[in-house]
Amino acid sequence: MNPLDLMVEEKYHCPQCKKTDFVDYGETVECTTCLIEYDKKLLGKIPDDEILSRQEMDGILGEFEELKDPKKAKKLYDSFFEDLDV
Ligand SMILES: [Zn+2]
Repeated sequence: MNPLDLMVEEKYHCPQCKKTDFVDYGETVECTTCLIEYDKKLLGKIPDDEILSRQEMDGILGEFEELKDPKKAKKLYDSFFEDLDV
């Protein structure tokens, strides 16, 4: 294996499709395959599946303007899934 490959391996990769092709928007990047936008601060810092949850949570909570407290928001988010019979 080329050692240089390891150097660039910690580039952003899409949590969904694992590809590394992104459009750079500054604060965020968008996967050119999934067309999903991710926060640069989250990519590579937290597990892929949690990033996806975060994206979903932001989508859901966008409907609830009053929920600015992340802890309350998380609670609400969890409650959505507790109520589901999966
Ligand atoms: Zn993707």
